Amino acid sequence: MKFKPFNQPAPQLGNQYDDDRVLRSYLKRTLPPDMLAEVEPSLREMGELAGGELYALQLADRLNVPTLTQWDPWGERIDRIDVTAVWQRAERLAAEFGVVAAAYEGDYGRYARPFQFSTAYLFNPSTDIYTCPLAMTDGAARTLLLSGNRPLIERAVPHLTSRDPATFWTSGQWMTEATGGSDVGTSETIACRDTNDAWRLFGRKWFTSATTSQIALTLARPEGNSPGGRGLALYYLELRDENGRLNDLTVNRLKDKLGTRKVPTAELMLEGTPAYPVMELANGVRNIVPMLHLTRTWNSVMAASLMRRGMALARDYARRREAFGALLSDKPLHIDTLARLQAETEAAFHLSFFLVELIGRDEAGDITPEDADLLRLLTSIAKLTTGRQAVDVASEVLEAHGGAGYIEDTGLPLLLRDSQVLSIWEGTTNVLSLDALRAIASDPGGLIALNRKVLGVVADTRDPALVEQARLAAEVIHLAIHWLQEVKDDRAATEAGARRFAQTLGRALSLALLVEQAQWSLDNEGDGRPRAAARRFGRSAINLLADTDMDDDRALANDESLAVMAM
Ligand SMILES: Cc1cc2nc3c(=O)[nH]c(=O)nc-3n(C[C@H](O)[C@H](O)[C@H](O)COP(=O)(O)OP(=O)(O)OC[C@H]3O[C@@H](n4cnc5c(N)ncnc54)[C@H](O)[C@@H]3O)c2cc1C
Repeated sequence: MKFKPFNQPAPQLGNQYDDDRVLRSYLKRTLPPDMLAEVEPSLREMGELAGGELYALQLADRLNVPTLTQWDPWGERIDRIDVTAVWQRAERLAAEFGVVAAAYEGDYGRYARPFQFSTAYLFNPSTDIYTCPLAMTDGAARTLLLSGNRPLIERAVPHLTSRDPATFWTSGQWMTEATGGSDVGTSETIACRDTNDAWRLFGRKWFTSATTSQIALTLARPEGNSPGGRGLALYYLELRDENGRLNDLTVNRLKDKLGTRKVPTAELMLEGTPAYPVMELANGVRNIVPMLHLTRTWNSVMAASLMRRGMALARDYARRREAFGALLSDKPLHIDTLARLQAETEAAFHLSFFLVELIGRDEAGDITPEDADLLRLLTSIAKLTTGRQAVDVASEVLEAHGGAGYIEDTGLPLLLRDSQVLSIWEGTTNVLSLDALRAIASDPGGLIALNRKVLGVVADTRDPALVEQARLAAEVIHLAIHWLQEVKDDRAATEAGARRFAQTLGRALSLALLVEQAQWSLDNEGDGRPRAAARRFGRSAINLLADTDMDDDRALANDESLAVMAM
């Protein structure tokens, strides 16, 4: 007799647009119907690729990583980076589908951004973080347009926003040096004037993702400028000359990373690299902010998209996997586990896309001053909230697959490894929490607008279960504002609570946005699932503020000290 072992069927993906109730219902609520009808075929096509061909290619290409060839056979320094098959395909598709361009084509006004980011959301989970260079490309295009620097706009923006793969360029964002990614004002790179308009940069950039880009925006200190962030200036550079040779820069090595392994993140030496000031010869940190706002927004949407991918796989698996005589999808505790993750995923989606909506309105000149303040605050809040959610959800998604979730060739561990970066790059959770506090201190309008948005949801909600959740969101915001007033004169207490404060704002606003969508879905689709998401999310920890003791915290953070804590 031949023993035939049991083989577990793998989780499967369908069309990632058609299967995404949350995205489709959101677009139905927020886009004009004729526009939705126009853009839906493109979203559906991307959904088909993401759940089919690209997902298969991603699994097949799993072991490949980008390679750096520093020398040619004859001793010439070349520093050529070859990217993986998925990245090559993603580059073409990104141009053809206008994953960046759709935001710049002017066809849809304030709705252009929600459409563009819906495409990016579908594209991201099957393209091995190719959205990293796309985010920076979008950020560079916007920063250049806002700078008013005509020669640079004319030179680069048509490429950055092209739908033709042959002319499409991507951009890097080179800020982090070994001295600091958060504390970027300590950067060591020096800019020396070469000719009247051209400068040469000397320094070392410690993390430069997607070093295959054609251009980069970077920071350097013009010779003689003061130390600190104000003394840095924002520069534009092109990586290669017309013969394809690197412009006086060398690639020391590619980083060996936990995740985002397909992204060629390099350490670079700038050895007199030609560069052009984008704006004034100072205030570089302030002048690169439009780029950061967009890359942080991309980060939030990518977090939601990876959570969504994890849930699609975990749900499908639960319907295929039996344990103790029943499918996992029928086990009450597994249902409880997945329900929490789905509620987190929907919360992250709505928080991210609310931010996207505000950007769309801002760019279309259709935003109130209060909402413009909210936009400034929300880029940090959404990024730091969704970045942590993504790691939590990815970790649970792996566990929901049992041992298989830990096995590399299922493709599942990738979700966790790639999610982990989302709370680190583009500003860590702590650094963005402090940034949110700074934004409120310089202009409380953002916090006032956030409060007003939540109160507006309370006023517009009628379903009793949803009214309860909307009120909870409003009450938590009220408590958070009260906390801030209480601690505002105690700098250490304010800083220590910044992360819990910022996440509380993020979670309370997410709850209100879930309620808003849920009321609409009840009224227009007769669908109770968004209400279930709001109620489930409302039962999680929304208010993270708590009284803590700095002495206790110091004793815990510095635990290895031999001193016994005095009682
Ligand atoms: C895969 C990858 C790709 C990257 N690509 C790029 C890129 O393309 N371009 C680029 O410019 N950078 C890039 N980075 C760098 C990234 O943006 C920085 O690593 C990040 O901003 C953190 O900076 P840091 O490494 O200096 O950490 P640090 O600032 O040293 O942070 C260490 C810890 O201290 C905390 N901390 C820092 N300051 C404070 C404070 N005031 N209060 C409380 N806590 C604080 C942080 O939250 C963190 O937990 C990349 C990083 C990674 C991992």
